[in-house]
Amino acid sequence: MKKILLIHTGGTISMLEDKNTGEVTTTNKHPLTELSYHLKAYAHVDEKVLFSLPSPHITPDHMLQLAKETEKNLQHYEGIVITHGTDTLEETAYFLDLVIETGKPIILTGAMRSSNEIGSDALYNLISSLRVAVEKEAENKGVLVVMNDEIHTAKNVTKTSTSNVATFQSPQYGPIGIVTKEAILFHHTVLSRYTYPVKSISKTVYLLKAYAGMDASIIQAISKNDPDGLVIEALGQGNLPKEVIGTLQEMIRSDIPVIIVSRCYQGIVQPTYSYEGGGSDLQRMGLIFANGLNGPKARLKLLIALEMEKDFTSLKRIFEEH
Ligand code: ASP
Repeated sequence: MKKILLIHTGGTISMLEDKNTGEVTTTNKHPLTELSYHLKAYAHVDEKVLFSLPSPHITPDHMLQLAKETEKNLQHYEGIVITHGTDTLEETAYFLDLVIETGKPIILTGAMRSSNEIGSDALYNLISSLRVAVEKEAENKGVLVVMNDEIHTAKNVTKTSTSNVATFQSPQYGPIGIVTKEAILFHHTVLSRYTYPVKSISKTVYLLKAYAGMDASIIQAISKNDPDGLVIEALGQGNLPKEVIGTLQEMIRSDIPVIIVSRCYQGIVQPTYSYEGGGSDLQRMGLIFANGLNGPKARLKLLIALEMEKDFTSLKRIFEEH
């Protein structure tokens, strides 16, 4: 049997419902550790509680700590399963995917219903993740997210529903595999992977979403805060209201990188439009297009990239690698 390390970080999968109020919150003791005997059928599992945090409390510093813990243990285990709150699970998964260089399976999972709720998906998702972690085919695919009988890549997966157990989807691309009662079936693979093994996260990067009628005031406020970078979820193929252009130009002249993704959840950003604030206008100004990433993930990539590079050409190259 393979040796797998299970690292808990918190989230609903580690919480319990108060039967009087219906509220869900953290517990002193991880509820799944009492159910560990269920896991014995699949692997030799060691367990570790690294954090007991609701995932809105997770920061890039926690992600870095988790990455270091995972890397430290990879030499002793054939795979790692990490439980995490679902709200920011895709961010932690992508962060680990960007910084950890390994062919061994690293699986993130969570739950939409805590362990003592009717129809809880906690233990089920944990067992599914363990089954994927011991699978030979799960190797060399980067960090994976296993929830609700599906296997997703860290890069493409996103939480799409606030409460449905089928919340994790990979828009445009779909899952790369499924979990059935009998087998783990991969039907797609990962074509390329780039890792950036940083040792610290020290920069300040902001994330904004564009909207009709947006003006420069919020970007001016960010500029005053001495940012190291800015990510904007722009409109459509990567366009912005013309009112923000002047301030963005000043940021770029001050060597603050501005990354453009789309607020659409499918498709890519590209320099199609040449009107003021259109994609090709933005590209000419020196904004960098990040294809295939949502805003929070592009922000993490910029945080990581800025630990290594500062100049426009290198940052552009990093955002073109995917
Ligand atoms: N709010 C919870 C969290 O992310 C949601 C969950 O885990 O499903 O910690």
